[in-house]
Amino acid sequence: MTGYAGIDAGGTLIKIAYISDMEDVDLAYTEGESSAEEQGLSSGDSSVQAPIQVPFFVKFPTDRMKEAVAWVREHLPMKTRIGFTGGQAERLRGLLPEYAASAVDVPEFEATAEGAVRILKAEAEAENANAALGRFMLVNVGTGTSLHAIEEGERLRLGGIGLGGGTIVGLTGLLCGVRDYGEIARLAPLGNREAVDLTVGQIYAPAVPPIAGDLTAANFARPVPPATGVKPQDYAAAVIGMVAEIVVTVGVQAAGLQQTNQVVYIGSSYEDNALLQELTLRFTEMLGATAKIPKQGPYSGAIGALHLAKR
Ligand code: ADP
Ligand code: MG
Repeated sequence: MTGYAGIDAGGTLIKIAYISDMEDVDLAYTEGESSAEEQGLSSGDSSVQAPIQVPFFVKFPTDRMKEAVAWVREHLPMKTRIGFTGGQAERLRGLLPEYAASAVDVPEFEATAEGAVRILKAEAEAENANAALGRFMLVNVGTGTSLHAIEEGERLRLGGIGLGGGTIVGLTGLLCGVRDYGEIARLAPLGNREAVDLTVGQIYAPAVPPIAGDLTAANFARPVPPATGVKPQDYAAAVIGMVAEIVVTVGVQAAGLQQTNQVVYIGSSYEDNALLQELTLRFTEMLGATAKIPKQGPYSGAIGALHLAKR
């Protein structure tokens, strides 16, 4: 029995996918997600006892890499075949020399694309939908954002933009001192973007605008703040709104240039971030494309690295 793991060490988060025996397991990604705790792998366990029948996923902040190292040592048997990927992979590998013999490097963009394709196929199969995806644009909203055109085996990285989940955390922190990701995601749906942004309606008032009045004319450009002031939740909503608008605009336009109108958004920026998810879906449809945000998208790189390590 050989265990397999994929470790995607990104700029913000280290994502790990692990399965103890892939040969006789149907990788039901959409159904089978379970945490380390659910599988009885509490951090106090010193070894993995029973075979892990479904892949489980765990993540650590990259700035607490030692915790990830300790977790790997506690839970992954030494012979586990590990695919390492992501910008901090080399550093993490260096801290785990005892796994050197069974570790492989997987290029980040290959891992991300492979994982995304597998997640989408598993989702389609679980829904009894057509698993043939055709061409689509993959938009990975991580710390920053990268764009990939994908059609089965053809995977082309198109470029990226320096605006992503890191912008959400950084800019909200600068504007109102809230830097905790969970807190930002919780506050944002309660906020009012119009306290910060300039809308088309405000520019045209009192006349009726020729396009929807609630569209953003200029992010962060409201000249006079409301009498009640700008609250942290308003900043959080405005920052997430700006990131969603730009990521979607770039993603949909890139999709058009690649002759597809399917856009798939992944990356941990979507994890438990209801406002970013909602705006991404809405703006993509508004621009005439279809959007998907697969539940396991944050683990695309880890899942892809796991599978590519097997090859
Ligand atoms: P990377 O691969 O560059 O580390 P991810 O795809 O993991 O990027 O996404 C990182 C982003 O996800 C962060 O910038 C933040 O917006 C968001 N995020 C989600 N969960 C967390 C968390 N627990 N801690 C910090 N950021 C988080
Ligand atoms: Mg990443």
